[in-house]
Amino acid sequence: MNNRQLFLSHLAQTTDFPLMIEIEKAEGVFLYGPDGKSYLDLISGIGVSNVGHRHPHILAAIQEQLDKYLHLMVYGEYVQQPQALLAAALVKTLPHPLDNVYLVNSGSEAVEGALKLAKRYTNRREIISCVNAYHGSSHGALSVGGNEIFKRAYRPLLPGISHIEYGELEHLENITADTAAVIIETIQGEAGIRVGSKTYFKALRQRCTETDALLILDEIQAGFGRTGKFWAFEHFDIQPDILVCAKGMGGGMPIGAFISSREIMSVLKNNPLLGHITTFGGHPVSAAASLATIQVIHEEKLTAQVAQKALLFRELLDHPKITGIRNKGLMMALSFDSFEVLKPIIDRCIVNGVITDWFLFCDNAMRIAPPLTISEEEIRLACSRIIASIH
Ligand code: PMP
Repeated sequence: MNNRQLFLSHLAQTTDFPLMIEIEKAEGVFLYGPDGKSYLDLISGIGVSNVGHRHPHILAAIQEQLDKYLHLMVYGEYVQQPQALLAAALVKTLPHPLDNVYLVNSGSEAVEGALKLAKRYTNRREIISCVNAYHGSSHGALSVGGNEIFKRAYRPLLPGISHIEYGELEHLENITADTAAVIIETIQGEAGIRVGSKTYFKALRQRCTETDALLILDEIQAGFGRTGKFWAFEHFDIQPDILVCAKGMGGGMPIGAFISSREIMSVLKNNPLLGHITTFGGHPVSAAASLATIQVIHEEKLTAQVAQKALLFRELLDHPKITGIRNKGLMMALSFDSFEVLKPIIDRCIVNGVITDWFLFCDNAMRIAPPLTISEEEIRLACSRIIASIH
């Protein structure tokens, strides 16, 4: 059997329509098939490869760590230099008092940790999240997700969760003295890129402070430079009580984190109540790659280029069938009339050597989230291929 047959026979499937593109190698903004065909990667493995594929600095950091050790012990017991350096580098990107980093494996696990932390710290049980939110696929993360169709088959889910409309000021009244936390994507991703206003975020922050509810910002998709600031919340002049991140954090390696103040985080270590335990959380190879990722974002001044690159995409993606563009930096959605219009365009894009995608909760919009390292020439090439695929 060839790789495609093995994929279909023995790998559990997540969809009836997998993209089924076989990739043998990746470099920078390009993916290469076994036949040598090249694809411009405009989705970065869903917001992961922010610094491009196989960045030499990241490969070197991984190699250096491979020569030392792989897994030594569950997270939080041994002093492991890659974890310590990574935590310090993350804290440097964040405002006071966000100085305590809990390293995990993935976005979903970071969300689980953040929700548990909020319950422990506040001794409250109610969580508020948003309609159309996506926070992951594990039971807790799914429970705070905002799409009924995805949740229906798994009920009963976590109790005490209610949903408000993202960006709606009036709904903030639902946050009360019973609320442990509000969890919200700073920019809604899987809803098809929805951007709240500064007024909204300031009011949300204020309401959480007034009611002593914790504000959890999910920047798993929007963090690590994607929107043109290192963290998306920097656009709104606010800061969270707990921040969750993953995806772009590892530069292609699996890692996530929930981050808070030392005061809030300290409740997780109080015995005999278990806090959060993770065997592979902050794996040293991933941590080394993540530290290198932060260095690349700073050294190559990637955030400073994002707005300009996004503008170029907007200028070049001018076509009557594109009914609108929503974006915050290089987190973009191009709207079409319907899924039926969009699906063949995405298929033709792949044939024409450019990979795009749609969103979990928005099937009439095309996802554009290229590596932030994409050059002007590559943007021009990608857009010409997209336009050539629309007919
Ligand atoms: N939150 C957001 C905003 C996400 O976009 C995702 C992944 N698409 C997750 C959480 C879950 O992350 P993971 O798939 O690493 O569990």
